[in-house]
Amino acid sequence: MNIEVKVGNSLNKNDEIKIIKILKNVGDSIRLNDVIFEVESGKGASAVNSKTKGTIESINVKEGDTVNADKVLAQINGEQSPKATNTSTNNFNYFQNLIKPVKLQMESDITIIGGGPGGYVAAIHAAKLGAKIILIEKEKLGGTCLNWGCIPTKTLVRSAQVFDTLKKAEEFGCYAENIGIRMEKVIDRKDKVVAQLVQGIKYLMDKNNIKVINGVAEIVDNETILVKSSTQQITIKTKNIIIATGSKSAVLSINGIENKNVINSSDALSLKEVPKKLVIVGGGVIGMEFAYIFASFGAQVSVVEFMDQCLISCDDDICEENKKSAIKKGIKLYNTAKVEEICEAEDNECIVHFIQEGKDKYITANKVLLSVGRTPYIDGLGLEKAGIELNQNKKGIKVNSKMQTNVSNIYAIGDVTNIILLAHAASHQGIVAVNNIMGRPCDMDYTVVPSAIFTEPEIGMVGIGEKAAKLQGIEVEVGRFPFSANGKALCYGESNGFIKIIKNKSTERIIGASIVGLHATDLIAELTLAIKSNLTAEAITETIHAHPTTAEVIYEAALSLVGEIGRAR
Ligand code: FAD
Repeated sequence: MNIEVKVGNSLNKNDEIKIIKILKNVGDSIRLNDVIFEVESGKGASAVNSKTKGTIESINVKEGDTVNADKVLAQINGEQSPKATNTSTNNFNYFQNLIKPVKLQMESDITIIGGGPGGYVAAIHAAKLGAKIILIEKEKLGGTCLNWGCIPTKTLVRSAQVFDTLKKAEEFGCYAENIGIRMEKVIDRKDKVVAQLVQGIKYLMDKNNIKVINGVAEIVDNETILVKSSTQQITIKTKNIIIATGSKSAVLSINGIENKNVINSSDALSLKEVPKKLVIVGGGVIGMEFAYIFASFGAQVSVVEFMDQCLISCDDDICEENKKSAIKKGIKLYNTAKVEEICEAEDNECIVHFIQEGKDKYITANKVLLSVGRTPYIDGLGLEKAGIELNQNKKGIKVNSKMQTNVSNIYAIGDVTNIILLAHAASHQGIVAVNNIMGRPCDMDYTVVPSAIFTEPEIGMVGIGEKAAKLQGIEVEVGRFPFSANGKALCYGESNGFIKIIKNKSTERIIGASIVGLHATDLIAELTLAIKSNLTAEAITETIHAHPTTAEVIYEAALSLVGEIGRAR
């Protein structure tokens, strides 16, 4: 008898479904429950399976077609199973599958685990090179960067800048009354910016025919991945794997960490009100960015840092400039200070107990933001099943310069490698991994990875710092220029900071630069290109820089390196 295959009775007749994959051909013999189609509807991805055994007579759709839910997708010559005849139709029942996940099988050239800036960039690059790609994401496309990191923090930085500008409007001859901050609006704007960017990534995935699966991935062996979600259990057979699972906030093992007022960076992005007193444990990049944001919003901010200065990866003079600026802003800095425990006071405030120079010290706070670094996300990934090795300190996945793990068809990129925890580094590692998989051998070069820190003023750094050059025994010459002599910075009323360009005395090439000042995070791009292209300071001085711009500080610092006297303009 001829049996029709439709999507099922849980959808309305006019609901649209997209045919994602057709797993059988006309003439194929099929058994009861064999999956014939993978489809997507407004209710998510699902499978259409056979309720009979028999032979496929016809298939009436193509992959990529969008059809109504009552469309007859295929016809089977077979016997109606007694179970099926008891139901109103013999079709796939969506809700039945909500209770019991549908089991599916898929195949790909490259399966990428994690949809952050490492994973999604790798996916797009590989798809453009012609590979069949599956990308698995357990939470939201865009990963930490778009949803809980770079982008949300920078929208908050911008709100803080606008508020600061309003506060000093009079200095510019402008008058604003009753100025204030409404956190719900700040958070709402942040959420909108994030949503727009995430939507953009979804569009790029569709445009490049990248199959995105929402679920938790586990490596079964070097060619098999299992993805689990509430509706599906998908086994993927894959030629290559890229692990791009990122990182999570590190936690301190001290008493009181479970207190409800102890928050991490993700929580800090959605605070509905500005805490009166905020203690930030950890004065690294993330901690200091939040310190300036919440100080601008009106919180009394204290930073407790274990090392002898905040932003320890910067050169000493940059740290000093940041310290001056933080103190001016009212941020209290406690360096060489070790947090011992966090207690709860009777009035619900927290008491942060730390030891500094041998003395017990205490600060009270409404919120305590823990910002003590990030840990590679390898939980439940099944690394041991595939025999994937970790780095020496057992943090992060070990990779070679091609981003390849010790298992030749498995690559790892981004924060999970624990090499450089920055979004653009993750993306570039993704490109390198894909190129190597696709037969375009290349190596990851870490000498020219810029970093951008959104403190006040901003900091941009690239290449070797003075501290590192000394340690490596490289003889250097440093060209400097202050923002106080830059026309645009003065017009903007933001003339703190300086630039320094570092050249290798023996090769004459520029090998590093640090900028602390207005637009530093954008300006660092020119020096990144200069170092990558092996340029000398002369090459910069021979390049015309527009006036009046902050980019002129680069020109002036380069002039001082070639022995010409800088001219303030
Ligand atoms: P992620 O972006 O973390 O993405 C990994 C994804 O993998 C996540 O979406 C996760 O859900 C998913 N995943 C994990 N395990 C599984 C699994 N088993 N199955 C399926 N999916 C899984 N960097 C900058 O360059 N500039 C900045 O200004 C900046 N600011 C930051 C501010 C904050 C507050 C934070 C926390 C970070 C910031 N970073 C910044 C760092 C940046 O966010 C990360 O370096 C970057 O996101 C790393 O990218 P990734 O692709 O390696 O991992």
